[in-house]
Amino acid sequence: MYPKKKRQSIVVLIAVWSLFLLLVTAHARTSSASNKTTITDIRYKSYPTHTRVVIDCDRPPLYRIDRMIDSHLISVHFSKAILGKLLKDNPILLLQGDLQTLETQEEGKDDIVVLLTFKSPGEHKVSTLSNPDRLVIDVTNPEGDIPPEGELPHTDGVPTVPSPSSPLTPEAPKAPLSPSSPASPSQPQGAPSPPSGSSSEIRTIVIDPGHGGDDTGAIGQMRLRESDVVLDVSIRVTKLLRNRLRKEVIMTRETDIFIPLKDRTELANNKNADLFVSIHANAARRKTARGVETYLFGRATDEQALALAARENATDIKSAQGFQEIILNDLLRDFVLNEALELAHYTQEAFVKTLMPSYPTLSLGVKKAPFYVLAHTKMPAILAEISFVSNRVEEQRLQEGSYRQKIAESIFQGIKGYIEAKRNP
Ligand SMILES: [Zn+2]
Repeated sequence: MYPKKKRQSIVVLIAVWSLFLLLVTAHARTSSASNKTTITDIRYKSYPTHTRVVIDCDRPPLYRIDRMIDSHLISVHFSKAILGKLLKDNPILLLQGDLQTLETQEEGKDDIVVLLTFKSPGEHKVSTLSNPDRLVIDVTNPEGDIPPEGELPHTDGVPTVPSPSSPLTPEAPKAPLSPSSPASPSQPQGAPSPPSGSSSEIRTIVIDPGHGGDDTGAIGQMRLRESDVVLDVSIRVTKLLRNRLRKEVIMTRETDIFIPLKDRTELANNKNADLFVSIHANAARRKTARGVETYLFGRATDEQALALAARENATDIKSAQGFQEIILNDLLRDFVLNEALELAHYTQEAFVKTLMPSYPTLSLGVKKAPFYVLAHTKMPAILAEISFVSNRVEEQRLQEGSYRQKIAESIFQGIKGYIEAKRNP
């Protein structure tokens, strides 16, 4: 025991020390946080005369704008910045207005690049505003024409792509750039044109059973061949579409023959197909891997997606990566991908609702990867991986007609859901 006086001074000492520690940690916290700007959100809105993009930050950003003269691409380079979770999870957004894509990339440890591509870009003007801190980029529309109806992001805050995957939110309807430029189209030129929706009537659908002939695709432990099972499922999907929806359906192959990927996409393009659905079965080294997933074209979601695309493209990963880079410019222009994203969501949802109650498995979700057949088709295109032939249970299921029928029903329901949504937007 200490004498009372000494005890008091120890208590004081401890108190002072804790206060010191508290201050040190608080300082460390603020100084490490003050190192970097967090880019929390990106919003956009199209007006008849210009498009406004707002990049929200948690403090005044350090930035520079890179743009070649008259380029469609404007890149905003942020130094000492990081992405907030929202943007990190959703690095690319494909749009339908004058602003066609919005993409974020991490560069090195400290920098972030925001890439904006425009259909018909005019001059750009940049300003920073505070409270909250944000960078505002206005890009004029040189043609000055009014974006077709339906291409404007809705002012009620509904994004132009399905929201689960696109937290990049359209800007809230604040004051337009100039009060004299109303946000609503005022003078459509010429006679009233049909709404763009009516031209998107789905008439012809291409169903593409993967592989065939010498190219068996993946082979299971019980020797089930991917090429066989996807052909059978494709025939079932085709019958459902023809019988129940009265659609014209073209199969890229109806028998066990080899068809090059190029011929498949050319067939779909030459026939002016409205949708392209490729059907494959998955395989993985890890024997427990299982589930269903739906792909659209894009930068690979992860290593596994890239490896899968490489295998399905029958190339090695390295060339798939090169392919991915080459195709990126096309990707940036190609807003058909918005439709593909929707179709993919409907299809994946149908797997969950139609297949999984009877055959529990994992919904691996909607993903992106640079599949050849998805890159070279001009219409919305998806690729379904309908189970893993490398998984014993799923291989067994894939042998059964009833399972194949449920898979076919799911794909059919996905296409049907998408078509119905087009009809009644
Ligand atoms: Zn395959």
